[in-house]
Amino acid sequence: MAAKASAQSVLEALRQVKYPGYQDDIVTLGIIEEVVPKAGGGFSILLRQATERDGVIQHLADAIHHTLVHGIGIEEFELRVRKLEAELGEKTGRVRLEGTKYIVAVASGKGGVGKSTVAANLACALAQLGLSVGLLDADIYGPSVPMMFGTGDERPKSAGGQNFYPIEKYGVKLISIGFFLGERAPVIWRGPMVMGAVRQFLKDTLWGTQDFLIVDLPPGTGDAQLTLAQQVSLDGAIIVTTPQDVALLDALRAVRMFRQVHCPLLGVVENMSYFECPDCGERDELFGHGGGERMAVQERIDLLAKIPIQTDLRKAGDEGMPLVIRNPSHPASIAFKDLARRVVAAMPE
Ligand code: ADP
Repeated sequence: MAAKASAQSVLEALRQVKYPGYQDDIVTLGIIEEVVPKAGGGFSILLRQATERDGVIQHLADAIHHTLVHGIGIEEFELRVRKLEAELGEKTGRVRLEGTKYIVAVASGKGGVGKSTVAANLACALAQLGLSVGLLDADIYGPSVPMMFGTGDERPKSAGGQNFYPIEKYGVKLISIGFFLGERAPVIWRGPMVMGAVRQFLKDTLWGTQDFLIVDLPPGTGDAQLTLAQQVSLDGAIIVTTPQDVALLDALRAVRMFRQVHCPLLGVVENMSYFECPDCGERDELFGHGGGERMAVQERIDLLAKIPIQTDLRKAGDEGMPLVIRNPSHPASIAFKDLARRVVAAMPE
C-alpha cells in the first residue's frame, strides 16, 4: 500500500486528524500547508503552527504519526513546523495572490452595521465599472454572500486536488464559507480555524486574473481579525460603521487595528446614515448626525460614502440580488458607485 501512496493520499489520510478541541480536521483548517514526496522516498509534511502551546504541536505530531503508520502504512516522513512568529512577523509571509491586482478588505468593529451589504454592492459596482472582481466572504461567523447573491444550492466546482472554482454571479467571482456549510449551518469558529479557513480559501480558489478581490472580513477586532489583516497582503481597508456612538467606538478600534498592521486605510463608509422619505424627500437621521464625519476628521481618514437606510437595500440583499444590480439608478446604488470610483482612485499605480 505504501508503495502506491501519493502526496494526495497522504493528505486524504491526514483528514482523519482533528485539531485538538475542534470538530474539523487539520487539512480543512489549513494547518497542513503542504505534503511533498521526497527524492529519496517518503514525504515531507509542512505543518503550520496555529498556537503557541507546545502540547498541541506534540499532540498533532503523535496523531499524524499514528494515522500515517497505522492507517496507510507510511513510515517514512518528515514533519516540519512553520513557526507562528515567522508567519505573523514577516511581511513577505503575507498571502499575495498571483493574478489579483488589488486586495481590499471591508471591515467593521461590530456585526450588523451593514459590512456585507457594502462589500456585496461595492463588488458589483466595481464590476459595473468594467473591472474584473472577486468577492471572498471571510465572515466566518455569518457568511451572507450565498443569500445576498442568491446562489441557492450551487456549490463551487472542484478543479482537482484542493482547488476549486469560484461561483460567478452578476459578473463577480464569489467564494464563501457558506457554500461549503450551507447557509443555515451554525458556525462557531475560533482563532486558528478562521485563519486556516480564510487562508485556504484565498490560496485554493482559482480566481484567475482580476483587478480587485474584495474581502468581507469577520466583524470585530479580536485575534482572528488581526491575524487576517496581517496575513493577507491588503492594499487597503474600508471600515463600515453606523453613525451611532457605540458602532463608532467599535469602528475606531478597527481603524487602530489596521494602523497597527500598517494596512492603508481607504476610509470610512457611514451606513444607515439617514432615511429619506420617499414621499416628501425629507431626511431623517435616525442614528444621529455626522458620527462618521467626526470620526473621519479625528482619525484623518476619508469619509468615503454615506449610504442611506433603505428598505430596498435590505430587500435586495434578502432576495439575492444586490441593489446595485437590481436598481442601478437607486440613490443608494449611486452612492455605491461613487464609493467604487473612489476605491479605484485610491489604489496605487
Ligand atoms: P454585517 O455584515 O455588518 O453584519 P449586513 O450587511 O449583513 O451587516 O446587514 C445587516 C442587515 O441590515 C441586513 O438585513 C441588511 O440587508 C440590512 N442593511 C444593511 N444596510 C442597510 C441599509 N443601508 N438600509 C437598510 N437595510 C440595511
